[in-house]
Amino acid sequence: MSKEANTTHSFFQGVARNFDKAAKFTKFSPGILDQIKACNSILRVKFPVKIGDGIEVIEAYRVQHSHHKLPCKGGIRFSMEVDQDEVMALASLMTYKCAIVNVPFGGAKGGIKIDAKKYSEYELEKITRRYTTELVKKNFIGPGTDVPAPDYGTGAREMSWIVDTYTTLNPNEINAQACVTGKPISQGGVRGRTEATGLGVFFGVREACKVQEDMDALGLTLGVEDKRVIVQGLGNVGYHAAKYFQEAGSKLVGLIEYEGAIYSEDGLDLEAVVAHRKQTGSILNFPGATNIEESAKGLEYPCDILIPAALESVIHAGNADRIQAKIVGEAANGPLTPEADDIFHKKGILVIPDIYLNAGGVTVSYFEWLKNLSHVRYGRLEKRFSENMYAEILNIIESMTNQKVSKLERKIILRGPDEVDLVYSGLEDTMIGSYQE
Ligand code: GLU
Repeated sequence: MSKEANTTHSFFQGVARNFDKAAKFTKFSPGILDQIKACNSILRVKFPVKIGDGIEVIEAYRVQHSHHKLPCKGGIRFSMEVDQDEVMALASLMTYKCAIVNVPFGGAKGGIKIDAKKYSEYELEKITRRYTTELVKKNFIGPGTDVPAPDYGTGAREMSWIVDTYTTLNPNEINAQACVTGKPISQGGVRGRTEATGLGVFFGVREACKVQEDMDALGLTLGVEDKRVIVQGLGNVGYHAAKYFQEAGSKLVGLIEYEGAIYSEDGLDLEAVVAHRKQTGSILNFPGATNIEESAKGLEYPCDILIPAALESVIHAGNADRIQAKIVGEAANGPLTPEADDIFHKKGILVIPDIYLNAGGVTVSYFEWLKNLSHVRYGRLEKRFSENMYAEILNIIESMTNQKVSKLERKIILRGPDEVDLVYSGLEDTMIGSYQE
């Protein structure tokens, strides 16, 4: 089924629609708003890679949405869904996300249109290194230009190939290590980056669950303890979010992966499910759980909190009415189509938006980038540093929630006027500055 089958908007149009809704509350001129909304630079490349006995032509992108602050920042994903519209939407979301958590980056995103499962590690390395070479050739990567990071289908391993390729091609660049974040610790990464996005998701939902009037309106008790949670996606973000919910005493009633979903009213043990999946190759047939063969149906089972942590547009006009959750935390980027957003708004479901909820990753990326630029070796202080990192994400999420979110009309959390103030407070000065020059 095509991504757009259940929506009248492409992903980028959906992001632009939210932008326009929010922009109405600002004092900015249409020209400034158009400039904020536009994607500044788009790179589309096709390159050949020798796979097995043949040549495969690989399609890939890097979009820099905003240059108002440099470098641009945002992950690289490996997925068959990758196309220009998707990468433009994701790059735009990065700009707004960075503005919300006040890290000084413009937004960017990259994507390679491949199904990573179909390639050996050696082949993936060749594809990643060739993509990096394309980025270098076109000036779409560099510590002060554009700094990629992991995203859907990529992780520390891919980042290590990127930094190695970049460093080889730029032997005199003293800050080369800062060309990408989410690296292995041995190559300049920081402890805490891997779990950061999932932790930020957990913190954000936990903060929302502390607000008495919202919980009363939703008919829920305060706190995440004992709440029934369904998580879609056991990748880096979903796995860690699920882990923190479980540790906090929430009940993981449903887990969804691409091969199917499982549900148990009594709760699922995350580590046991992960071990089962590793052993059998599937999440299905987990002892004591109900099998849901059609993966997307797993979203519709009873729960209090639903965490879509996979790809965009998974909740749409075709299934939003059947979602039973009271709180939906957008751990993925853009998991709700505009139609689903409207349906949830009408039904009074609390939606915690992506640009706030999944900003923990880029927040910690900022510290990794700073570490690389300052050439500091944390050594034994590294552990302390990661503890500070946790404190920093919490601090940012808490201060956001306390200062801004509590003022909002709760049902449109962060989608009302305060979101606008918040986002534009990060963009306004630099944007207007460049306009006046
Ligand atoms: N891919 C992550 C995101 O969507 C992290 C980006 C980064 O660290 O630059 O926010």
